[in-house]
Amino acid sequence: MKIKSLTLNGFKSFANKTIINFQDGLTGIVGPNGSGKSNITEALRWVLGEQSVKNLRGSKMPDIIFAGSDTRAALNRAEVTLVLDNEDGYLYNQPNEIRITRRIFRSGDSEFFINEKKVRLKDVVDLFIDTGLGRESFSIISQGRVESIFNSKPQDRRILIEEVAGVLKYKKEKKKAESE
Ligand code: ATP
Ligand code: MG
Repeated sequence: MKIKSLTLNGFKSFANKTIINFQDGLTGIVGPNGSGKSNITEALRWVLGEQSVKNLRGSKMPDIIFAGSDTRAALNRAEVTLVLDNEDGYLYNQPNEIRITRRIFRSGDSEFFINEKKVRLKDVVDLFIDTGLGRESFSIISQGRVESIFNSKPQDRRILIEEVAGVLKYKKEKKKAESE
């Protein structure tokens, strides 16, 4: 499975509709401080169902809507669309191309769509369950998260490594079996 494109429209600093095509060979996005690199990763996290405003560096969800600039008025809605190439069938029982859209209005109302069909947040989250790609996976690691991993106690860091290696769930099951 591959990311085909990410479209931002009214999301944070992306007031104009911006389409990012993820062509083969893309390894990085570079740009000056404040140019919107982190906003792109946040858009990816958001469209996958991120519910924590803190992870998006805001205080309330509508903060992610373009807030206006010296030359442009604020917008009333933000929309992000992620297009995935599923030709290899990585997402079981799903079409070759999957298009996920999330939209939010100033009122705070959020809408989700999978292949243009209106769905619930749960449907988007379920689509990625056990794939290692969901909103809480380690495939997206923010700047702050790197620091917190470095600064954590060895015991906490071990838990994290076990989680990534998939050991944690077996440990939990072992503990449960031993107590029965
Ligand atoms: P750095 O290299 O410092 O990490 P960056 O390229 O990751 O920078 P971002 O943090 O993605 O930059 O972008 C920050 C910019 O986004 C700031 O200029 C900020 O004002 C702008 N921004 C954030 N939220 C909004 C919003 N709701 N409306 C308009 N602009 C916003
Ligand atoms: Mg950044």
